[in-house]
Amino acid sequence: MTSEKFTVEKVLSIQRWTNNLFSFTMTRPAHFKFTAGQFARIGIMVDGELIVRAYSLVSSPYDEILEFFSIVVPDGAFTSRLQHLKVDDELYLEKIPYGYLTLARYQQPAPKDLWLLATGTGLAPFLSMLQDFSTWQHYQQIFLVYSVRSQAELAYVARIKEIHESFGENHPNFCFIPVITRDATATLNQRLPILIENGQLEQVAGQNFNVDSSHIMLCGNPEMVEDTKEALKRRGLKMNRRGEGNIAVENYW
Ligand SMILES: Cc1cc2nc3c(=O)[nH]c(=O)nc-3n(C[C@H](O)[C@H](O)[C@H](O)COP(=O)(O)OP(=O)(O)OC[C@H]3O[C@@H](n4cnc5c(N)ncnc54)[C@H](O)[C@@H]3O)c2cc1C
Repeated sequence: MTSEKFTVEKVLSIQRWTNNLFSFTMTRPAHFKFTAGQFARIGIMVDGELIVRAYSLVSSPYDEILEFFSIVVPDGAFTSRLQHLKVDDELYLEKIPYGYLTLARYQQPAPKDLWLLATGTGLAPFLSMLQDFSTWQHYQQIFLVYSVRSQAELAYVARIKEIHESFGENHPNFCFIPVITRDATATLNQRLPILIENGQLEQVAGQNFNVDSSHIMLCGNPEMVEDTKEALKRRGLKMNRRGEGNIAVENYW
């Protein structure tokens, strides 16, 4: 039943960040081509039934393996099982990738400043984009804004530094902006829509959003995506439709 749409891949590594966050890598079949920002559909077989969920690719389109960043939802049909994943386990991978949260969707305005705004595991597609040289070639400035609840949930920070060093070596204008919403001592600790409304995000970035130059991508929690989108629209920024406009979004649930 599954063989036509899926291939069976092997788990290669697992990295645990917290009790409810982990990353894993798996083999990549030669036919599986994707664009940075897209997602895969991954399946686990449970009692003869395949449970499938969407997962953004963390890895670059040029990597030999596939990497993913996952939440563990208590009682979640998929992740309550996925959390017990071990090296050499098998996972199902749908043969084709999906999704339009890719930089290719932007025609107007022309690429200049790129804002990547994530909550939690919504960081994944942005890590893929940042591991694609063309992203660094196309933009003069890149801002990666990563909102989590606690310092412990701030996964991938060392990797973000490494990515900047290896992919954006001659690109000084990269700014990583963590937001920790339950840490009163963090430089930024409010929800993203509030940080946009009160101007704090732009202040820390040292750059304003600009309707004529900004490409802004939002990914993760649907409430954050909706409220941030509205805050940006109130600033005159426009949804990207048929290639034109500033804001592109992806909701995880
Ligand atoms: C396009 C797309 C890409 C996605 N990429 C990723 C990804 O890269 N990593 C990832 O962990 N999930 C991702 N998801 C969510 C993922 O598909 C599953 O929802 C998630 O794995 C939980 O599955 P579940 O069956 O355990 O719980 P579900 O029954 O699917 O979800 C139960 C509830 O858990 C919460 N929830 C679901 N996903 C998340 C999440 N990522 N972070 C916080 N809370 C969540 C929501 O409240 C949801 O209603 C993506 C979803 C979409 C639509």
